[in-house]
Amino acid sequence: MLFQYLGTAAAEGVPALWCNCERCVRSREIGGRALRTRSQAIVDGALLIDFPADTLGHLYRNGLDLLNVRDCLITHTHGDHLYPEDFSMLRAGYAHVPPDYRITFRGSEAVRDALAGVLAQPIREGSAAFEVIRPFEPAAVGRYTVTAYPAIHDPNAGPLFYGISDGERTILYAHDTHFFHDDVWAYWREQRPHFDFVSLDCTNACLPVRYIGHMGLPENAEVRRRMIAEGYADERTVFVSNHFSHNGTNVVYDDFVPIAAREGLLVSYDGMKIEV
Ligand SMILES: [Zn+2]
Ligand SMILES: [Zn+2]
Ligand SMILES: [Zn+2]
Repeated sequence: MLFQYLGTAAAEGVPALWCNCERCVRSREIGGRALRTRSQAIVDGALLIDFPADTLGHLYRNGLDLLNVRDCLITHTHGDHLYPEDFSMLRAGYAHVPPDYRITFRGSEAVRDALAGVLAQPIREGSAAFEVIRPFEPAAVGRYTVTAYPAIHDPNAGPLFYGISDGERTILYAHDTHFFHDDVWAYWREQRPHFDFVSLDCTNACLPVRYIGHMGLPENAEVRRRMIAEGYADERTVFVSNHFSHNGTNVVYDDFVPIAAREGLLVSYDGMKIEV
């Protein structure tokens, strides 16, 4: 599978809208990989994960065509992952789509409710569908099997994170979440999955976690250690820290890469590709 990060920031972006903090000023000066847009990723150019307001720019920048995308997983309703307004662009007259085109969005019931209004017309016209995906119930999504997991994040946002397998290789895309729920570890103890690529919420970078809902590097390192110790990953598994806030200590890309490397983690950047 070819996994690509399209956007790698938390809600404000890095550098952030309006912000003049030291991390944002330096990120603007450095440019390139230090510039992070809101969270989105794509697998094999076909399975999209999340739909933030930056989606349009992501398509332009990476030469992607939404008509090649027939499935989209939504993690939760927060604005850095979901921008409902753009879903109404799938209406007749706003998009001219081939008659056989249909995209299926999947997420929790909270995501379904957030999109009900904007998807009503595309669903009526047959160009869109929405399916609720429930934790621990593997679902066929295109040529993949997707397993949703409950995230420890704002419960009002219907947060899920996803395992994606093509039958040979398996990805874990864990955004947004704190340490994984005990139920996730218990499910893995029974199911014995093996992940080849793991993307972990690193909103806080090196800032000590002051609230439940996200992780930083110490938590990413602990999750990596535990996944390897319990056999769900191994030394060849690629672990990447992703989803950064400008408030995170040492968050500037160039600063964070060597720090994360000491914990066995790569650092995402917009456009980064991983051959899984
Ligand atoms: Zn987020
Ligand atoms: Zn800032
Ligand atoms: Zn969130």
